[in-house]
Amino acid sequence: MPQTTRAKRAYVETYGCQMNVSDGELMEGVLAARGYEIVGCPEDADVVLINTCAIREHAESRVLGRVSQLNGLKRERPDMLIGVTGCMAQRMGDSLLERAPYVDLVMGPDGYRSLPDALGQLQKEARPRKRKQLAVLELESSENYQGLEQLRAEGPSAWVPIQRGCDHRCSFCIVPYVRGPEKNRTPELVLAEIQGLAAQGVTEVTLLGQTVNSYRHGDVDFPRLLRSVARVDGIRRVRYTSPHPNDVTPELVEVMAEEPSVCEQLHLPAQSGSNRTLKRMLRRYTVEELLQKVALVREAIPDIAISTDIIVAFPGETGAEFHETLDLMRTVRFDEAYTYKYSPREGTPATRMPPEDFLSPEEAQARLAELIEVSRGIQAEINRSEVGRVEEVLIEKGGREAGQVLGRTRRNKVVVFDGDISRVGEYTRVVLERTTGATFAGTEALAVRAAVQA
Ligand code: SF4
Repeated sequence: MPQTTRAKRAYVETYGCQMNVSDGELMEGVLAARGYEIVGCPEDADVVLINTCAIREHAESRVLGRVSQLNGLKRERPDMLIGVTGCMAQRMGDSLLERAPYVDLVMGPDGYRSLPDALGQLQKEARPRKRKQLAVLELESSENYQGLEQLRAEGPSAWVPIQRGCDHRCSFCIVPYVRGPEKNRTPELVLAEIQGLAAQGVTEVTLLGQTVNSYRHGDVDFPRLLRSVARVDGIRRVRYTSPHPNDVTPELVEVMAEEPSVCEQLHLPAQSGSNRTLKRMLRRYTVEELLQKVALVREAIPDIAISTDIIVAFPGETGAEFHETLDLMRTVRFDEAYTYKYSPREGTPATRMPPEDFLSPEEAQARLAELIEVSRGIQAEINRSEVGRVEEVLIEKGGREAGQVLGRTRRNKVVVFDGDISRVGEYTRVVLERTTGATFAGTEALAVRAAVQA
């Protein structure tokens, strides 16, 4: 009887931002295309990949803790391979292999095309003790991820990377060092992918890039690409993240205002409300310029929801400068703010600022708490003023309680209401009845549901 060899099984565990989630799906796609079965837990896997992020504080110790846990499994099954991929793998490189000798592979974000080959090379060595650790860490400016397919979870929404890497050098940010310079996919491939997704039933896409709106390929810039994506048959909602404020141009705003499928939502990372801090962050815009962008967008799309990212306690930020950030929050009135305390990332310029510039953890925490209080207060006021509105909601998943579903409005607000989980993917209209401050509870406007679906 000929023996059938079972497919190798891989498990990918992803940490961090949406780009990393997308990379996790890409690794799964690359492995599935080479015959791997993708499984849902490390216990079932021959290959376990920890797809890491270098942005968040304590990420390293958390990942080292996780791989050490996995080493327990590996002791029982010495054939198992452990790989660490992503931004932290790129940043730590060989030192990670030294600190965790049971890790077989470290691979940076530009190496995923060669992932099956690298694993094949490791698997060739039948004696696990003799296996040499492997590091794949080159940043390839020619790697544009073309031809690699993501393995996406089923659902009505999909994230579509159109760009990787970043040409900016914000002084607090590790991304350019671990993901290399900006690389843009061809518009033809982006559109073909979105047409394929639409054919599979996806109706909402979010275009993804580190500075997504600086996208350019040949003579196709971001506004032009966005317009084409917005016109793909079957695509009903288009979003994008994260834009750089400098590339929020009148042309882009015009496309957003004109194309019905582009949602009334913009994430606009401000980072600070102080010109001196922005300059030292190397953000390349002033508060006044940022406010002009907000005015431009709101003039064209009055109902737009705008969210932001803010870092407090950047080295050297004075109390007065921190208050300028609070002033910015009160002036713009962001619908949502993702707030962070500055934390140093080894190798970034901000870490080389004079030691006396670094705020104490207590002071940084106090600023963050004050910022959160202000931003949540504004968010709650805005959301309370929206109670009573009837909004189109795309049902994304079940709610926490049985018999409830959770969805998002076009303005990216989360709404929970009574409904059956079988309706995931449906659009309906919901009356926003209450808000917790951040999210809404509502009731479906049944009378108009049929009309929306028609
Ligand atoms: S624009 Fe700045 S913050 Fe954003 S990824 Fe590039 S370097 Fe980092």
